[in-house]
Amino acid sequence: MTSPADILKQTFGYDIFRPLQQEVIQNVLARKDTLAVMPTGGGKSLCYQIPSLIFDGLTVVVSPLISLMKDQVEQLRAVGVPSLFINSTLSPQAYQESMDHVRNGEVKLLYVAPETLLTQRILSLLDSVQVDCLTIDEAHCISEWGHDFRPEYRQLVEVRKRFPKAVCLALTATATSRVRQDIRNTLKFSTTNEFVASFNRENLYIEVVRKREPVGQVIELLDRYKDQSGIIYCFSRRQVDELAAYLASKKYSARPYHAGLEDAERKTNQELFIRDDVQIIVATIAFGMGINKPNVRFVIHFDLPKSVESYYQEIGRAGRDGLPAFCTLLYSYSDVAKINYFIDQKEGDEKRVAIQHLNAIVSFAEDERTCRRKPLLNYFGESYEADNCSNCDNCTSAPTPLADITVYAQKFLSCVKRADEKFGAGHIVDILHGSKNEKVIRWGHDKLSTYGIGAELTKKQWMHIARQLLSMGYLKQEGEYHTLSLTARALESLKKREPVFGVVQEAERAKKDGKQKAGVEYNHALFALLRQKRKEMADADGVPPYVIFSDRTLTEMAAYYPQSRESLLKIAGVGQVKLSQYGDAFLDVIKSFSKKHELTEQLTRKKAVEGKSELGERTRIVGESFNDGATIQDLLERQGVTKGTILDHLTKYAMAGNKLRNGDNLQTATSATPEQQQITFAVFDESGTMYLKPVFDALNGALNYDELKILRLLYLIYKQGNTTP
Ligand code: ADP
Ligand code: MG
Repeated sequence: MTSPADILKQTFGYDIFRPLQQEVIQNVLARKDTLAVMPTGGGKSLCYQIPSLIFDGLTVVVSPLISLMKDQVEQLRAVGVPSLFINSTLSPQAYQESMDHVRNGEVKLLYVAPETLLTQRILSLLDSVQVDCLTIDEAHCISEWGHDFRPEYRQLVEVRKRFPKAVCLALTATATSRVRQDIRNTLKFSTTNEFVASFNRENLYIEVVRKREPVGQVIELLDRYKDQSGIIYCFSRRQVDELAAYLASKKYSARPYHAGLEDAERKTNQELFIRDDVQIIVATIAFGMGINKPNVRFVIHFDLPKSVESYYQEIGRAGRDGLPAFCTLLYSYSDVAKINYFIDQKEGDEKRVAIQHLNAIVSFAEDERTCRRKPLLNYFGESYEADNCSNCDNCTSAPTPLADITVYAQKFLSCVKRADEKFGAGHIVDILHGSKNEKVIRWGHDKLSTYGIGAELTKKQWMHIARQLLSMGYLKQEGEYHTLSLTARALESLKKREPVFGVVQEAERAKKDGKQKAGVEYNHALFALLRQKRKEMADADGVPPYVIFSDRTLTEMAAYYPQSRESLLKIAGVGQVKLSQYGDAFLDVIKSFSKKHELTEQLTRKKAVEGKSELGERTRIVGESFNDGATIQDLLERQGVTKGTILDHLTKYAMAGNKLRNGDNLQTATSATPEQQQITFAVFDESGTMYLKPVFDALNGALNYDELKILRLLYLIYKQGNTTP
């Protein structure tokens, strides 16, 4: 029998399981009904796709998202997995043909909509074949407590009874314990078989930015993410239309998406986005449920989302491929008033809940010190322990103390005044900088007393000063050209020489951005060529580009220059079938580029980088040394870190699906009595291994957290040993 790890590599082209994938797969293969909760992009699909290739019979996947089925099936076919979907969008003939394929045992995976599955026609079709696994995707739809309750989902219980031999796998990204409990109760699962992955999405850079001139800020961001795919979320349909039209008028590749558009237009815009024909979608929250696009590189919130939950779901659509992605929330307190207005129209419980949600997102947005991941994950009942995630604004920038900016304010304000209050900020800065550009000369502004008096700040810093003066009410901005003029307050303050306090942006901000987690360094010119090749092939096959290869795969090709089919297989996302279908075409591009630029294959570099990005070099070293016989004591001396840190590395190593050996070395390191150990294991059975607090409580605090971590490792070893099929 081929092992899950072999299928992961040979069929899907990946080297390492994502957290909990392996556990879930093993559990399913052991035919234990399983509930898996993983964040969007966490890799839920492989949890049933890999078992489906090991089971003899059919795996049925129920999904409410009809629009996604076709996409999933296209991706599966591209890696050579025979699969089909049956739903109401099929023509009668295609429907019949699909049924025939299933009846003849020609497919391993069948996607169906719940209402389709419940029809007599499909039920009797399934009676005629062997159903080995019934997967329920978006399983929160079963719960009335979830955000998307669907009555048809309740009836799936009957379907289960009809196929008692099929193991059931329920998947969702909704983590609240109430919904989980509801799913388990409805489907009659035991808690032992519940797996809840961390909701932390390490690759998302999260930042909240003061909203000043949102359109300008959006443009600035878009220029930063040139040629990348992204979503801009707005509060209202009108805002969506306006912003999309504005961006399009400025030659950005942007389209709107909201519930007020004609079906056809919505569909087209979504399709264009998925196929990389359009880079930017400006949308209300209606957008996203039905899309699976892995290479969304940025999500901008133009307005404040109405809850932490929806915020997290929306940014979750970025970076599904695991590559770095950027999430910017533009925040201003006036948005709160806007949402409050809508809340005021509600009543009773609904109003109370809405206010709670709003307060939570506001305090998230206004906190400028705590790591952004802490409150977000906290909200989902998870505690984020690291002090510094190094991938959010609060962790990467030092808190900026207010500085005395009186001199800058005076220079800027007087320059506005001298230029007769007829110009925008950009021109004022040009004057301050002593620019000789045509406009400055034409207006004679090189003769002003303020000409060239502001060389000490960069253009960006001056613009930042201008925005602060605007928001502090010293300046007003009007008209199409954003003309600046002085307010009464400014005149007053200039006269009295009042001090002004604000922030001078650091000039080396760019350097700091460099600290953000980067993906692999790659050759951008080659990447562009590969992307072009991908687009050609995708259009020829009539599929979205990511069905051919993901951005991640192309990035790796452009970083390591594989020169042979064998080397190409080492690239993430290249399995046997894709190699034979697309390999040569891409190799041609890489080879001719390499030849022209005298580049050689760099696959040894890949190994080194990989150790870092997927597991962390140290984690791997600690795990491997332990397996080679090192004791905890040896390791903490060698690494010069605390026992807790060593145990954390080992836990990470084990949870990434690596087998730990030498349980004896752990057993001797624990002072737990057999009874305490038993209680601990029972709690892990009951509530999973993610949190230690329940164990701590169950033992009345008799063992400290380091001890509990050792027991958790023993438990993981014991479980891995027990559930290997
Ligand atoms: P979910 O359904 O949980 O939102 P998906 O199953 O759609 O997530 O997976 C998201 C992306 O991650 C897909 O592009 C998938 O191919 C990729 N992926 C899944 N598992 C792995 C893995 N072990 N290594 C690398 N990429 C993976
Ligand atoms: Mg999914």
